[in-house]
Amino acid sequence: MPKRRIVLLGATGSIGESTLRVIGAQSDRLELVGIAAHGNHQRLAEIARQHGVRHVGLYHDAAYTAARSGTSFPAGTKFYGGATGLDELATLSEADTVLIAVVGTAGLQPALAAIAAKKTIALASKEILVLAGKFIMNAARASGSRLLPVDSEHNAVFQCLEGHRTSEVRRLVLTASGGAFRDWPLEKLADVTPADALKHPNWAMGPKITVDSATLANKGLELIEAQCLFGLQASQCQAVLHLQSTVHCLVEFTDGSLLAQLCPPSMTFPIQHALLYPDRAATGTDAALPLDRIFSLDFRPVDEARYPCLRLARESMSAGGVAPAVFNAANEVAVAAFLQNRAPFLAIPRIIEHTLTQVNPVEPTTLDQVLSVDAEARRVAQHFPL
Ligand code: NDP
Ligand code: MG
Repeated sequence: MPKRRIVLLGATGSIGESTLRVIGAQSDRLELVGIAAHGNHQRLAEIARQHGVRHVGLYHDAAYTAARSGTSFPAGTKFYGGATGLDELATLSEADTVLIAVVGTAGLQPALAAIAAKKTIALASKEILVLAGKFIMNAARASGSRLLPVDSEHNAVFQCLEGHRTSEVRRLVLTASGGAFRDWPLEKLADVTPADALKHPNWAMGPKITVDSATLANKGLELIEAQCLFGLQASQCQAVLHLQSTVHCLVEFTDGSLLAQLCPPSMTFPIQHALLYPDRAATGTDAALPLDRIFSLDFRPVDEARYPCLRLARESMSAGGVAPAVFNAANEVAVAAFLQNRAPFLAIPRIIEHTLTQVNPVEPTTLDQVLSVDAEARRVAQHFPL
């Protein structure tokens, strides 16, 4: 069987590292042919050497220049710079599958380029679906490009829906761990620091998504992502707290049956599923769930008073049009300000709510319209008086 050839955008991040473990463990089936990052050329050089990768992209100008002029990459490496470089990598003729794991929205154009080139897309970057889901899904339908979700909950839903009709789904319930502050007294949330927010109880992830997990903005983005990927109504996409992060989704059908997908809280499971789909193989990375001892699965409803970002995301999803894009842009600006100690934790929902009231939630007809709303929302969020 020929190996599946992978381009990995966001190779130096948390999803990137988990993907490298999967590719290393499945080296008889998977081959890494292209990698890209924002600026971390040192780590890209290590990956290029270890996996024999010839095509390397760097978004940041200075890093691109440093990588090209240095000697740390193998001889014969072909370099790709800036946004156009990412698009070229995403359409590389040697590749079958493009895994998009760029944090934020910089992965949008490369995703659209890969779709137009009829590549299979393994999608981790949820922000791009929230920003421009309608355009991504339409482009995938038009080109016939397959879109496989890597986000664990959506990968779980995808698995539960196989062989079923979406018209027979009553609702999807995505599970949420509740993040770093699930059990903190509400009055202490005013003083939390970025270091506090970065201590996730169950998952090891990049800083932005870890903060998003503490506010549950992440679950909000994921509800919107689910609505878009599976073509459901906003009211059919819900969340529940699940303390162990072992059940990743519950799909309830019209007859009242629920299907769940379980696996340990490691991204190697959904990544491997997406990269090998429709095949399966023994996991060479993380151990499966141990069923030889007692373990419990706890669920509880989400208290939206603790998690205003989830409420705002749900409201954006119900409002539709560009509202989810505004939510996403304001959240990115707010989280960056919090991580740089420029805004307190509780300012994150305030910045989002303010931005949602200032930007007109029209129904976009072109991608350019979405991108200009995104830019306007970022400008409004950045000027929020702190
Ligand atoms: P990290 O912050 O750990 O990594 C981000 C990656 O994106 C890095 O490789 C970074 O490169 C790269 N990057 C950032 N900007 C650019 C750019 N303009 N061009 C090219 N590369 C860029 O993030 P995560 O791995 O945690 O998350 C990645 C995406 O996956 C996010 O959208 C997140 O929501 C989603 N996701 C993550 C999960 C997780 O477990 N981590 C789970 C589900 C979804 P550099 O190192 O050079 O800065
Ligand atoms: Mg997730």
